[in-house]
Amino acid sequence: MSDFDYDLFVIGGGSGGVRAARVAASETGARVALAEDDRYGGTCVIRGCVPKKLMVFASEFAEVAEDARAYGWSMDRGDFDWSAFRTRLNGELDRLEGVYRSLLKNAGVTTYDARAVIRDTHTVELSTGESLTAKHILVATGGRPVRPDIPNADLGIVSDDIFHLPELPKSILIIGGGYIACEFACILNGMGVEVTQYYRGAQVLRGFDEEARGLISDAMKERGIALHTGTDIVEMRCATDDDLSGKSDGAISMGTPMHEIAGDAPQGENRDGPIWVKATNGQSGVFDAVFFATGRSPNTVDMGLEEVGVKLGRKGEIVVDEYSQTAIPSIYAIGDVTDRVNLTPVAIREGMAFVETVFRGNPTPVDHELIPSAVFTQPEFGTVGLSEEQAAEQEAVEIYSTSFRPMQSAFAGRSDRVMMKLVVSKESRKVLGCHIVAPNAGEMIQLAGIAVKMGATKEDFDRTVAVHPTMSEEIVTMRKATRTA
Ligand code: FAD
Repeated sequence: MSDFDYDLFVIGGGSGGVRAARVAASETGARVALAEDDRYGGTCVIRGCVPKKLMVFASEFAEVAEDARAYGWSMDRGDFDWSAFRTRLNGELDRLEGVYRSLLKNAGVTTYDARAVIRDTHTVELSTGESLTAKHILVATGGRPVRPDIPNADLGIVSDDIFHLPELPKSILIIGGGYIACEFACILNGMGVEVTQYYRGAQVLRGFDEEARGLISDAMKERGIALHTGTDIVEMRCATDDDLSGKSDGAISMGTPMHEIAGDAPQGENRDGPIWVKATNGQSGVFDAVFFATGRSPNTVDMGLEEVGVKLGRKGEIVVDEYSQTAIPSIYAIGDVTDRVNLTPVAIREGMAFVETVFRGNPTPVDHELIPSAVFTQPEFGTVGLSEEQAAEQEAVEIYSTSFRPMQSAFAGRSDRVMMKLVVSKESRKVLGCHIVAPNAGEMIQLAGIAVKMGATKEDFDRTVAVHPTMSEEIVTMRKATRTA
């Protein structure tokens, strides 16, 4: 019998923590406890992937009536009822949280609804005052959205807040060019909000394939999003009557003509009212809401980590080895708090590998190579492997790329384009990267990801017979390289 209260204490009941706790308890017989200081399910279930994807679905109905009419149906577009949607959304999140709680209970995990901090290498202290010991501690505390360091930044909202808005703003300024910023720009635009987006870089979706980024940003603009690259926010405050008197119908956004506003205004008052914003280009405007999608920070503050000797990186992330072990042998960390690849399935993989390593005696490193992922913009983007630019830096490559108007939306008179692209090693013929911009590209890339992960060559793709008529058949019918790089 161990001297510890538990074999494993997990801090954080999100994607990674719940999976590790559940599997360790139910499949290895370990005595496991887990502390969660907010809602079970964590970012993914409560304020990330799940509510976001439901909002994506909601926003996509905007085009259905118009398309259906083109296909011969008599159908009119009605209004979007945010409050009805939000009620259903909250009901669904309550249900899912219940599922997570019962998964833990049924696995025999003891749960504490409390904040936990580390007191020594084997002890955690809860906000309830209890102190508990464990042979192993797993930190799975995830991350949180950060606001930029400018005065009055607290007037803006972050992704956690978007699901709780009492009503949809008429106009919104989204700051950021990452996947969360772009996804919400498309979602809110689809829901009828007038969306302006500032991104300080030259092109949105930094790090992804250049050609895909261009296509997506063009499509976003075409759908009515006022996307301003090379632009950032420098000042914000509550809008004054003077600011508002410049309003015609609804808010003035950067997508419509600007006006210069003189004079100082009271700071930080009237949090719920319109917000005046000044941009790096000197222009100003008033928006009903400002949404900061300006990055996330690991939840490691005031956790007692450095005090016990756990090493933190530059962004505050926990530094771990390939087995997710920290500088302290009894303490491990998985998921977003380690800032490796911040995606739900990766946090889950890391949790499973941790259990395999520590509780089954089978050291299992986490494989972070060739992770397929999706960006739920409209159009959607599915990607796996190297971008054209990354691959070309590494070796000589052939690019097979095609862009076309897909049958379904072309028939409805839309100008939407899709893109299918393979990045192929000249020497080994392996497909190093696959990038798809198309409706349901997330679903497609999951399957293409298997082939790429298996090391399929371009000739393997070519040998596969097309499924006709589909969009994805193009991925196996691109005979001639578009270019070399
Ligand atoms: P989390 O899920 O964040 O869980 C950490 C938990 O720890 C939280 O519940 C928190 O309350 C708790 N906690 C923190 N500190 C303490 C403490 N001291 N004591 C007790 N509990 C504590 N990923 C995808 O794969 N696909 C997507 O489409 C996608 N969309 C996203 C959209 C948004 C808007 C956001 C914000 C994220 C999205 N992600 C997506 C990322 C994904 O949500 C995360 O990668 C994933 O949730 C990480 O899991 P985790 O277990 O590391 O942390």
